[in-house]
Parts: sequence; C-alpha cells; structure tokens
Amino acid sequence: MTRFIFITGGVVSSLGKGLASAALGALLQARGFKVRLRKLDPYINVDPGTMSPYQHGEVFVTEDGAETDLDLGHYERFTGVNALRTDNVTTGQIYSKVIAKERRGEYLGATIQVIPHITDAIKEFVMSDLDGEDFMLCEIGGTVGDIEGLPFLEAIRQLGNELGRERSMFMHLTLLPYVAAAGELKTKPTQHSVKELQSVGIQPDLLLCRADRPIPDSERRKVALFCNVRTEAVVPALDVETIYQVPLTYHEQGLDSEVLRHFNIAAPPLKLDRWQEIVRRVMAPEGEVAIAIVGKYTGLHDAYKSLAEALTHGGIANNVRVNVKWLESEIFENENTVTHLEDVHGILVPGGFGERGSEGKINAARFARERHVPYFGICFGMQMAVIEAARNLVGIKGASSTEFGACSDPLVGLMTEWEQGGVKQVRSEDTDKGGSMRLGAYPAALSANSKVRSIYGSGSISERHRHRYEVNPAYEAQLAKAGLVFSGKSPDGVLPEIVEIPDHPWFIGVQFHPELKSRPFDPHPLFTDFIRAAVEQSRLV
Ligand code: GLN
Repeated sequence: MTRFIFITGGVVSSLGKGLASAALGALLQARGFKVRLRKLDPYINVDPGTMSPYQHGEVFVTEDGAETDLDLGHYERFTGVNALRTDNVTTGQIYSKVIAKERRGEYLGATIQVIPHITDAIKEFVMSDLDGEDFMLCEIGGTVGDIEGLPFLEAIRQLGNELGRERSMFMHLTLLPYVAAAGELKTKPTQHSVKELQSVGIQPDLLLCRADRPIPDSERRKVALFCNVRTEAVVPALDVETIYQVPLTYHEQGLDSEVLRHFNIAAPPLKLDRWQEIVRRVMAPEGEVAIAIVGKYTGLHDAYKSLAEALTHGGIANNVRVNVKWLESEIFENENTVTHLEDVHGILVPGGFGERGSEGKINAARFARERHVPYFGICFGMQMAVIEAARNLVGIKGASSTEFGACSDPLVGLMTEWEQGGVKQVRSEDTDKGGSMRLGAYPAALSANSKVRSIYGSGSISERHRHRYEVNPAYEAQLAKAGLVFSGKSPDGVLPEIVEIPDHPWFIGVQFHPELKSRPFDPHPLFTDFIRAAVEQSRLV
C-alpha cells in the first residue's frame, strides 16, 4: 500500500523544499521503506527545458529523457532512486493533456473546468505509474498563495479525503524569521501561511520550520496552538553547514518518527551510517583543490547544481574539499586566461548553448591543453575543446560549430537523424526548441587502452544526454593525428561520445552529462578521477 506525503511551502520561496523532501525520502529509505519522489510544478511552461537557467536553474534530465525541475536531482542524489518522466509535471502539461482530450471529444460535450477536469488530471498524475512504493512524496512547487498553485492544492485536498488519513499526510515547510529589534524568532508568518492553506481546506499534519537559530519550546508550542497541530509535529529545521547533514539533523529533530506516528507505523530500525560517513568526510577533508568552472550562467550557481554536487562527490571520494572558482567565460575574450586560471588545479567547461562566451571557453580549453592542467569538458565543453584542437593543433582556422551559424569547417554540426532504442529520430533546423534534443540515457563503447576505459573499469557505459549538435566524425583522423582521439563512441561507431588527449595529464571531453548520475555515496568515476588528477596537479604548483 502506497502512502502519500504532500509537501507544500509557505512564507517565502527558496526555503529548500526540494532538499527537505529529498531528506525525508532518505530518512524513510534509511528505515527500510521503498520511496519515490515527485514534483508538481504550477508554472505554465510545458517543461523547464526552454526556461532561462538564470530564472529556473539547471534542467535535470532523467534516464528516460525528460527535461525536468532541478529538484529531481536532489531526489536522486539523496535516495539513489532514478527519477522518471512520470515524476515531474507542470500546469502546461496538465492543460495540454486535458485540451487534447477535449479536442478528441472524449469529454462527451461536457464544459471543461478547472474543477473537476484539471484537478482530475492532476490526481491521475499523482496516482499513476506506481511500483509498490511504501511512500510517494509529492512536492508542490511554488509558495502557498500563488494563483497558479490553487488547482494543485485543490487536487491534493481531494486526494487527502479519498485516500484517508492513514494513506495521506500534509507537510508544510515554513520559515520563522529572526527579528533583531525584538531579539526573537517570529511565528506570525507561519500562522498566516497555515491559514492560507486552511482556507483551501488543507490542515497540515506537520510543520517543518526553517530557522537560523534554535526554536525555543515556547515558540514551538505557540506555532502548534495557532496552527492546530501537535507540538511534536512542529519540527525545527535549522541551518546546516552542508546539505548532506540535512537527513541527520531532521532525524534528530524527530521528523521521520513523527511521520511514522502519523501513519501509525511502528518505527523500524534506522541505518544512517552512510550519511554520517559522508558528513564526516565533507567536514574534515585532508586537503583542498581549486577547480575553475568556466561557464555562461556562473552568476547563478543553481544553473550548475548537479555539477557542483558532482565535484563535491569527487572531493568526498578523494578526501579533499573542492573550492570552485566560478568564471564567466566572456572575460577570456578580452582578458588573458592566465591571470584567472593560473592558480587552479583543474578546469571544467560545462554544458551550454549559443555563441555568447564560446570563444572564452575555447581559450580556457587551450590554456588547459597547453599548460597541462586537468581539463574536463562536458557537452558544450567537449565541443569547444574539439574546436580548439582543430584550430590550434590541426591548423583548421575556420573550425566552428554550426550552432553559431554556417561555417567553412563544421567541427560540430546538427545531427538530423539518429536512432534511439531501435526507432529512427528525425529533426531539422526548425524543429520545436522544446524536447527536441538527443535526451536521456544512451550507451557508448569505450576504446581499449583509453583513459576513460580504465577510469570506468568497463568498455561499455550508459550516460544521460541533452544536446542538439554532435562532434563531426569526418575530422576524426586529422584530430587523432594531432593528438586528440575519440575514445568513446555510440555502439554503432557513428557518434563521437568522448574525446581525450593521451599525451596530457587529464584532458577529457564527454558529449553527455555525467554529473546527473553522481551520488554522494556513489561518486561518478569521471569526477572522482578528475579530482584525483587535480590533487596531483596541486602538488606540482
Ligand atoms: N549547445 C550544444 C548542443 O546543443 C551543447 C548542449 C549542452 O551542452 N548541453 O549540442
């Protein structure tokens, strides 16, 4: 029997609802339950794939090729459970589905309304595609009071009734702000937020209260009294130093036991040793390395969420702290790379789109290649490294990507046909921007004696993709002669998946996004080895 925990947020956004949900998932899992997490996003976009990373942060890609909210990345990193396309939905998707059904005449002439048609479609999504989970955690995006969120709140209110208390629970994340003039944590915003929820018919069962200092018992009791919950169900969520402490601190504050009490389940034993070990390593590293991330959205770190986490995981594996130096690639178009990159032990050029900043990324790749600094190019970062090698190693001056317009030497070009799971996929220059990339897990074969083969310890891998352009296989021989080899390809040998420079301490470019599969308790081998190489580099400089 699957139980549903609905998680809403109030007072302000950015309280870490995704992390809180992921941490609760991790705790229930640590008690031996099978868990899964879902995100219901009230915005009208069909998916976050076409949203600006500056507004929405990273686009997380699932194994089955859905472009989703970055919270799914937290879910995967905290539980190790791969998310699916059916774990993220938006208002845009719900409406598209309902309208398509109406056009097909499937509502038999009924007047289509938010209640019941939109709410039914939301409920159907929540209840769909279950696989014997003990707990399904459903996070509602946004903040209570948002107009867009109302149909979602109505849908979960109805579900609460239909499932009954023994199968459903409402958890609300709020903030108790500290007001210096009063010298107190304030409960009023939380009271208002709960009133807002109650006005749409939802009585929260548990309040998770963020605060920057311990919440006095008197305030806990006050929140309980005014918000109509038990005092034990007002759970403090205090600020921590590393996000991987969150499951441990929530447990100490009684979150998981309170949830189990609600469902009337005798608490099974809890195994938290893997979290304790991760926190121990993060808090007491034996050294540190500096890694430059040369990107286009470095002003908003959420745009590179999984990447930053994967670097941390690589640090955990090597017992070092990874200090990230965020660099906007455009600066290298006017300033010397040397001034900014001389003090780092590794350079990472992440995924990206569009021409702006691309020359700066090419310059960063050149610096890494010529100065023997470990270089990790991911997706766009691989493509730029290939262009750099073509221009400066092979001497093809016009080398570029057709992503930036027509060029004499398309080292990177648009793929118009490829195969996925035996089905031919076709696209052209003017295909819709949304959902039209090579997305999700694809296998690759690694060549014998390559660096990547020894790093993975295997000749065949599967990694997640999100790109429209491919490195042009026609230049393979010329590049190989100059020292950059294609060491990973699609199993049919057609698409270049990985490039490396054998005669360099660590120069690897991958067409896929390994950061999406890294976990704190299972760091991705490429990140582990990149950080290992950076540690070696730090001993040289
Ligand atoms: N813009 C490039 C492409 O579409 C790279 C995409 C990426 O880095 N995710 O192929």
